[in-house]
Amino acid sequence: MRRVSNCIFCAIVRGDAAAARVYEDDDLLAFLDIRPVTRGHTLVIAKPHAERLDDLAADVGSRMFALGHRIALALGRSDLAADGSNLVLNDGPAAFQTVPHIHLHVIPRHHGDRLRFVKGLLLRRGGETDTTAALIRDGLTRMEQP
Ligand code: 5GP
Ligand code: ZN
Repeated sequence: MRRVSNCIFCAIVRGDAAAARVYEDDDLLAFLDIRPVTRGHTLVIAKPHAERLDDLAADVGSRMFALGHRIALALGRSDLAADGSNLVLNDGPAAFQTVPHIHLHVIPRHHGDRLRFVKGLLLRRGGETDTTAALIRDGLTRMEQP
């Protein structure tokens, strides 16, 4: 698997940097954003290093989106009780990509949260990540139940 030594997200994949993990399999990893816009803001990555869309195989991108889709639904089923979500991918510095390991943002939203969302965008404060990650994992488990 291609990994880049100075990439923070590759360091998270290797376990050399800490992150609150929400989901992991052989190819994909989802973890909480260190500076969440809203509580539960999750990043989905493919484990092999790919900097931008240009470097990402289409089928890997499809699997990243499928996981982002699943996490968005899990946020709604979890005790975070999201009413919706923003799924965002910033491709390249021109589009405000700051970490050069392509990732999909899943940002939970609630009815009437416009002011809190704008505040979150400006302040980007961290939270109690372990509890939040556990709630999202519970949401994923609930999705597997009939
Ligand atoms: P971008 O601007 O590239 O689309 O988003 C990068 C995201 O990665 C930002 O929302 C930022 O808060 C998050 N981020 C940057 N460094 C770290 C880190 O070390 N750990 C985690 N969990 N998130 C990070
Ligand atoms: Zn990387």
